[in-house]
Formats: sequence, structure tokens, C-alpha cells
Amino acid sequence: MKILVTNDDGIGSRGIALLEELALPFGEVMVVAPTDDQSGTSHSLTLHHPLRVNHITENTYSVYGTPTDCVHYALLDLYGEDQPDIILSGINLGPNLGTDVWYSGTVGAAIEGALSGIPSIAFSLVSSESRVYYEELAQDFIPKLLKKIQKNKPSSLLLNVNLPSSESLNYEVEVTRLGSSYYEGNLKKNYDPRGNAYFWIGGDKLPFDEDQGTDSHAVGRGNVSITPLRLEMTDVERLGRTKELFA
Ligand code: MN
Repeated sequence: MKILVTNDDGIGSRGIALLEELALPFGEVMVVAPTDDQSGTSHSLTLHHPLRVNHITENTYSVYGTPTDCVHYALLDLYGEDQPDIILSGINLGPNLGTDVWYSGTVGAAIEGALSGIPSIAFSLVSSESRVYYEELAQDFIPKLLKKIQKNKPSSLLLNVNLPSSESLNYEVEVTRLGSSYYEGNLKKNYDPRGNAYFWIGGDKLPFDEDQGTDSHAVGRGNVSITPLRLEMTDVERLGRTKELFA
């Protein structure tokens, strides 16, 4: 398989090194990732300045841009006619659960892949301890998933995968729907040395969802969560009522 690996945490993240390592036995791997941490940049595209690219090693590039820029650049310039078979984004160090998918650059890169007609998967590692990540479960599960993909060759696919950060291999795989993702105190106010207020977005995450069948509930129980996503955003049920409104 021709595999494009990208992320939003930046080219220096341990998560992308791990994903590359796990992808290598499955084919030709190309790594194209943002130079800096681009977490929270969603599906944004750089339009107002040029994209500079560093060719780091034979199969590794960093882009001064967003995850979507990386996928865009890789598909158009590096691959050209001969597109990759799959795009893997991550492994994000931190959850992308529920409403997180609207903000996530990790998911944004996978969406860009899916929009281009390439099966794409976003991976995130969910830790209960702050900034401590165990890789054992990811090392066990991701090759199993890639083996299935290699065998089944899906023509279209967009998956959001959240993996518990765990040393234990005692887990189940749950196919889930997006749950909710709540943060406490989403805006922190502080003061600079001159007394001017500034704000920092991001609060503490509240406990995992109680709702069975959700992504958050699954990882809260130490299981792998796989949520299939789709790009069709039309509210089909509301089409009729909207037409009536403007008749
Ligand atoms: Mn990130």
C-alpha cells in the first residue's frame, strides 16, 4: 500500500513517529506533517502566504502550514497521478472525542483525504494522566486495523479512532457514534506583566460520557473507539420544512 502519514501535533511529535513505525510494514510510507503544532486548526487551508516545505529525509517532509495544507501538498505535488491508497493522521497525543472532531486538525487532515476520495483514518491517544502516554495498546491495535484495510481495500472510508493510553492489552473494539465532549472553564483569563488581560482557550475535560455506544464511553472503559464519519452535512429531514418556509 502507498501510505501517507500526517498529523496536527507537528513533525517532531512522538505520535507521528509511532504511526510511521507501525505503518512501515504495510508498504511505502510518506510522512508529510506541519512544522509546528497545529492542534485545533480543524480543516483550515493557508491561502494568504506561501507554503514552505522542508525535505527532511527521503520520505519525510515538513510544511509551514496546517494539516490540510500537508495533505493538499502531498496529494498534488508528491503523489500527482499516483495517489496514495490510504491516509493516516496522528497519532494525536490527546483525545478527539465527540464535538472535538469539529476543531481537530488530526481529523481535519483525514477529512481532506476523504474529500479527495482516499480512505482516511484519524488516530488519537487518550490518556487519563496528564501528558503521560502508554503506547502498548496502539502498537497492538493499529497493525490489526491496517491488516484489515490491506485485505478489504475499502474504496471510501473516514474513521475517527480513539485509543486508550494503556499498557494493558485487555481491551475490546467498539464501533461508536460521536458522544459529547465537555470542557470546564473553556476560557482562562490572565494578566500580563503590564496588567493587560489576555485569554487562553482550553479548560479541563469533564469525565467520560455515561451514554452507552458513544466514543467517549468506550475509551472511558479502556476500549478502542472507532467512529465512522461522513462528509454529507445536508439535513435531509429538514429539506421539506425549509422549502415550506421560503415558498
Ligand atoms: Mn493535536
